Amino acid sequence: MVDSPVEAGHFQRYIFEACDVRHELIFTGFEDVDLSALVHDIPRIVEAAQSIFQSPLPYTRYVFLVHGQVQSGGGLEHRNSASIMFDPFMLHDPEKYSRILGLFAHEYFHLWNVKRLRPTYLGPFDYQHEVYTPLLWVLEGWTDYYAWILLARSGVVESGRVLDYFAEAFRQLDLIPARHQQSLTQSSFDTWIKLYRPDGNTPNNTISYYHKGALVALALDLSLRRATGGRESLDSVLRVLWTSYGDQGYPDTAVDSALVQIGGPFMRQLLDQWVYGTEDIPDDVFDTVGLKLLREFKNLSQKVPYTGIVAEQSAAHSVVIKHVLKGSP
Ligand SMILES: [Zn+2]
Repeated sequence: MVDSPVEAGHFQRYIFEACDVRHELIFTGFEDVDLSALVHDIPRIVEAAQSIFQSPLPYTRYVFLVHGQVQSGGGLEHRNSASIMFDPFMLHDPEKYSRILGLFAHEYFHLWNVKRLRPTYLGPFDYQHEVYTPLLWVLEGWTDYYAWILLARSGVVESGRVLDYFAEAFRQLDLIPARHQQSLTQSSFDTWIKLYRPDGNTPNNTISYYHKGALVALALDLSLRRATGGRESLDSVLRVLWTSYGDQGYPDTAVDSALVQIGGPFMRQLLDQWVYGTEDIPDDVFDTVGLKLLREFKNLSQKVPYTGIVAEQSAAHSVVIKHVLKGSP
């Protein structure tokens, strides 16, 4: 029941077939809103995801339960459905619309990565206790990476916008001192006491396995393509895992082993640097695909002095210092 949400009341239903399977889009709270773009784009994302695994969709019916809520947003994956919430006003802004599609793609991709393709102890799920895993960088980080890759592959978002998203993610990571202190596996394991309990020191001692996990997925994907002359990619790793373990759960070592199986022993070195260690992803990972990561100020005249102070306006209209970054003046 926890994994099978129910919707009751007045809603709009759109049914579509993708990869020979019935899908439903259930919209609540979208009266008088033009949903034609979403109804057009979501089937393409489904098809792009299925083509990664090159096997039939592992369900007979999938339902997107979509709620319109002003100034709110988020999503939750289920085995055969996803709960998705966003502000209907975002549909009118191309940049925000691509983030809505990214949210759909993220929750949808979880039907493999997390709900079926998962460490053994994540299913059947223990809802009574905190469950610890060093693999959230794969379960959430790779899902975030593939969400944006699916948008580009399906053509629903132009690839330039997807590259902008990753460039911005690199910029954000550069601003987090904890990237040299906490590894991805530590961040995954400590999520119950760190990421989900943020405080003033969070940017100094905690990285997000969503954020860096997605960038490491990108770097691993490019490294696999380079190591195999473009024959293999992170898709191949997912297919190896899916073929080997399917819905049965895998041991914690399975992801590393699949990476080495596809990319060779060199992948262990990359894992030690980027996943078990805290080294930065080198800029030259982009060389093989003709891209360059540039670190520069876009508009020098608007360059604000760096203080390392992160402030925000409080509800009482006073300014509150949220963080003081480690190593700042
Ligand atoms: Zn997720």
